[in-house]
Amino acid sequence: MHKTGYYTHPECRRHEMGAGHPECPERLDAIQERLLMSGLDIGLTAIEAPAASFDDLALAHDVDYIDHLRLTSHCLIEDQAATGTAYAHMDPDTAMNSHTWEAALHSAGAAIAATDAVINGELANAFCAVRPPGHHAMRRKAMGFCFFNNVAVAVKHAIHQHGLKRVAVVDFDVHHGNGTEDILANDEHVLMVSFFQHPFYPYSGTEKQASNMVNIPVPAYTRGMDVRDLVENYWVPRLEEFKPELIFISAGFDAHREDDMGQMGLTEQDYAWITQRICDIAKRHGKGRIVSCLEGGYALSALGRSVEAHIRVLADL
Ligand SMILES: [Zn+2]
Repeated sequence: MHKTGYYTHPECRRHEMGAGHPECPERLDAIQERLLMSGLDIGLTAIEAPAASFDDLALAHDVDYIDHLRLTSHCLIEDQAATGTAYAHMDPDTAMNSHTWEAALHSAGAAIAATDAVINGELANAFCAVRPPGHHAMRRKAMGFCFFNNVAVAVKHAIHQHGLKRVAVVDFDVHHGNGTEDILANDEHVLMVSFFQHPFYPYSGTEKQASNMVNIPVPAYTRGMDVRDLVENYWVPRLEEFKPELIFISAGFDAHREDDMGQMGLTEQDYAWITQRICDIAKRHGKGRIVSCLEGGYALSALGRSVEAHIRVLADL
């Protein structure tokens, strides 16, 4: 039977970075409401995400960096109790509150648990509705709303704990997944394909590309049909040649035409189309195994519709 896992955790909703911040808890509400309204939730296997272990995090992040976040969290919990509000800024856009540490552990833990379940055959594939997102988190640096690189941690887990030899990462967020590239560049077991608006935050991904990275920078106002062409011409041949045993998706929906964070022109139909192409490749080479993790997507209505379209294809519903 075709089972699609849906991983999330209550702490993912308690992490927040201040009033008016676009990477807000309401993003998860928008997704949840859309899945309920459409009835799609009935067809999914809902699972509460466990926390990632220190050892798994250390496959992708420096031990000192992990400790720094943990100690910062201890201070925030004390400050929160004393003053009622506490934030620690990692960069101008990226802050921890007293729940961020737990939320980040469960976000990475969702990706790891989904990986285990998909490899063990308990699930056909999975979507992780988690925040904080991960693809800007570097080996030793939080940035761009990200703390732990959920996808990169789970990729390393699949290789080191399950012995997989060929793992692919597909990143369709409007921003370049610089953190994922930082952690996975030159890993012989990994192929990463992406497109991203350029020039644009984080202003990386176009120079000194590692041989296992297929980065396609695209100008602002690129539309869905052009993105479908580049997927067909640049991603699909490399993925078919690589024959991935498992495919991770860094599923950011901020390239949607209604999302003001970026200036690209995708619609939910484009996300469904891209997801179907990835499913086809996963079925041909990797027993259909896909683990998809939420990254960006800030226009709440468009986010809800896009995630619904994405999951509808994953779940074959
Ligand atoms: Zn993004």
